[in-house]
Amino acid sequence: MKKVHIFNAGPCVLPEPAIEAAIEALKDFNGTGMSVIEISHRDKAWEAVMNECRGLWREILGIPEDYEVLFLAGGASMGFLNVAMNFLEKKAAYLETGAWAKKAYKEARGLGEAVIVASSADKNFSYIPKGYTIPTDVDYFHITTNNTIYGTEIRYDMDSPVPLIADMSSDIMSRPVDVTKYAMIYGGAQKNVGPAGVTFYIVKKDLLGKVSRYIPTMLDLRTHIKGESMFNTPPVFSIFVMNETLKWIKSMGGLKVMQKRNEDKAALLYDEIDRNPLFVGTAAKEDRSIMNVCFVMAPGYEALQDEFMAFAKAHKMVGIKGHRSVGGFRASLYNACPVESVQALVDCMQEFEKLHK
Ligand SMILES: *Cc1c(COP(=O)(O)O)cnc(C)c1O
Repeated sequence: MKKVHIFNAGPCVLPEPAIEAAIEALKDFNGTGMSVIEISHRDKAWEAVMNECRGLWREILGIPEDYEVLFLAGGASMGFLNVAMNFLEKKAAYLETGAWAKKAYKEARGLGEAVIVASSADKNFSYIPKGYTIPTDVDYFHITTNNTIYGTEIRYDMDSPVPLIADMSSDIMSRPVDVTKYAMIYGGAQKNVGPAGVTFYIVKKDLLGKVSRYIPTMLDLRTHIKGESMFNTPPVFSIFVMNETLKWIKSMGGLKVMQKRNEDKAALLYDEIDRNPLFVGTAAKEDRSIMNVCFVMAPGYEALQDEFMAFAKAHKMVGIKGHRSVGGFRASLYNACPVESVQALVDCMQEFEKLHK
């Protein structure tokens, strides 16, 4: 058990066995006498980690043969540009569900024509837009499946008449996904599958190479497919810990088990938010994220915000301050967050209620 309850939005809490393996590998990587951060990335022992990690992505997520799995640097923020660089020829379409979605759209606008199909900006991104039609005259439709800041989530794999591209930074591996519905899935590992420093791309190979612009070498996904994610030095330590995190997911029983655990954890906290008169959730109920739970003090209790923050801190809760654009509180319940931590937060809210009602 950890010494504190970690609810950080990212970098996130990681499984204890992954951290233990990382400590061991920092001292001596697989009996090589070298640290994992000293070994050559061309060494056979390292290649084995790359292969194992790719294999685990394929196995756990069910990635078909005609998709490539890449581990690159740059973060999801670089991914925003990579999407447009590699897929935007005439026009692109975006679903505007939050700050990250807006940043992705901005990169497309910088390279060509892009449209926002629907937006929830009118209510500070507290819901997922519905009833829109995906245009058919675009190269791709871009979505952000989980809106980390606002606590909303698209928790199903939608049908799209054009290639669907998803930023899944903060809900990848939280539930089973039908990869065949997507042209590309990408995201930063640090929200749910590892430490910061590595960005995953799952891309349908035959959709690349259709744009006429010059793509700089490092931004061309074909470069990294050809180089098997080792065109240049990969972020070895981040990949190592990601691999250990995937091993843990597999050992727990895979994504169906993760989904059940995550839904149970989220229900525990949302039920308390809905029951406790001191607190109120900020996201539309039908669009609530199972990863990031956002809530504020209920009307009449606003003045207690700082006091609850201090109270939670005294009870070893870490990282529950809401993003400044929403305020209040946000508890991120990523895969490795134990149900005991969520229960501890719920207990904390109930004790606080007793003090103030
Ligand atoms: C955190 C986050 C990003 C940005 O990730 P970086 O790896 O820091 O660039 C993008 N999209 C979503 C949904 C995120 O939660």
